[in-house]
Amino acid sequence: MQGLVFDMHRFSVHDGPGIRTTIFLKGCPLRCRWCHNPESRREMPEEVERIYRLEDREIKVKEVLGRFMSPAEVLVEALKDRAFYEESGGGVTISGGEPLQQVAFLVEILSLLKAEGIHTAVDTSGFAPNVAFQQIALLTDLFLYDLKHMDTVKHQSLTGVRNDMVLHNLRYLVKQGRRVVVRYPMIPGMNDDEENLVAMKNLFMELSALNELHILPYHSIANGKYQRMELENMMVGVTEPTCDWVEKVATRFKNIGLNVKIGG
Ligand code: SF4
Repeated sequence: MQGLVFDMHRFSVHDGPGIRTTIFLKGCPLRCRWCHNPESRREMPEEVERIYRLEDREIKVKEVLGRFMSPAEVLVEALKDRAFYEESGGGVTISGGEPLQQVAFLVEILSLLKAEGIHTAVDTSGFAPNVAFQQIALLTDLFLYDLKHMDTVKHQSLTGVRNDMVLHNLRYLVKQGRRVVVRYPMIPGMNDDEENLVAMKNLFMELSALNELHILPYHSIANGKYQRMELENMMVGVTEPTCDWVEKVATRFKNIGLNVKIGG
């Protein structure tokens, strides 16, 4: 068996506890307007042009993004930093794209990691059939779970898909007693209105075992990438939230007893 891997980051400290290797699988059924990795979405290798600057010169290099690997090859890469995981309480995070798009490959990788006693995390949009979550629930020590919008129609307009499956899978994981950290990409004017914040609060009140929230404030870092890839940038004119506003939103959630972190 082989799966399509988009990228790997070693020594990552934002994708779960401790020092981690993050493995990005390629392919995602969503089209979030603010996506920072549009090149991770297509389920095939693709050629992109990278621009490197050397003093006043621009060097353009064509690169192929995405390579097919076996689960055993992924494990070999992941094990290179085992000493750092052990020292720091870290492990391996599988991200995307949407990693559950390649669920059979994901199951194999997670099984190999668990057999080695390595802490596993899966970073997901939640948009996958419930049976896919059933397959990985016990192999995953931590879910980093996106909550983009509580209203399904708005969710669809912002991401291209409805949120019914996302909310269903979130409830499922919490009820199964799995550890879930909710990640809320906070996008001014799109999902930081009163109605959405209240709906999020109500969800946390309903799922009392869900007590960790990471707020990921929007930043416009990907704008140049959209230009280079000649993709429509749907975030033109959207500004980053002020620190003050992010703090106020964080305080609201802290006040209902959540452990809130700003940033990944
Ligand atoms: S789920 Fe992630 S990878 Fe997929 S479109 Fe949204 S931000 Fe991009």
